[in-house]
Amino acid sequence: MNWFKKIVPSRIKTKKSQRVKSVPEGVWVTCESCKAQLYRADLERNLHVCNKCNHHMRISARYRLTQFFDEGTSREYFNNLISTDPLKFKDTKKYRDRLTESKRKSGENDALIVMQGEVKEIRLVACAFEFNFLGGSMGSVVGEKFVRAVNLSIENKIPLVCFTASGGARMQEAFLSLMQLAKNYLSTC
Ligand SMILES: [Zn+2]
Repeated sequence: MNWFKKIVPSRIKTKKSQRVKSVPEGVWVTCESCKAQLYRADLERNLHVCNKCNHHMRISARYRLTQFFDEGTSREYFNNLISTDPLKFKDTKKYRDRLTESKRKSGENDALIVMQGEVKEIRLVACAFEFNFLGGSMGSVVGEKFVRAVNLSIENKIPLVCFTASGGARMQEAFLSLMQLAKNYLSTC
């Protein structure tokens, strides 16, 4: 076998592996529980529940709210609030870097999303915690957004629904996050 023939099969192999990689990313999803390969479109139709083992997969806060509200009725509020790093906190990483990473990972500005819309034609305010943003932890922005969601529902005399998925107070904001507890308590009294 000359050098040319030796090269040809290896190129064919490379092309085969490239063909596998050329399948659009994310078409197939592996179930975290039974490891079955699931077609993403089927999984979305089944609201992210595995049709092999009935495992409920984690969904984003935004997706949850989109599924919850009647189509085309929801509007987001207070998404302009963004966490800062007043304490210049640093553990194994800087808090500022953790915020940047969480924004990139979740695509959200912070760990709580507030929307107003209709469910079966009933108007209400709903908020949902985004666990992919620092474990859904409550810093000053989450606390402020929750209080504003409560006020929005009171002003409009409509119900408030909250989907919780939170690890608790955000330690990187220390007492500033603990202060949110008192603020939330006062707003709901
Ligand atoms: Zn499964």
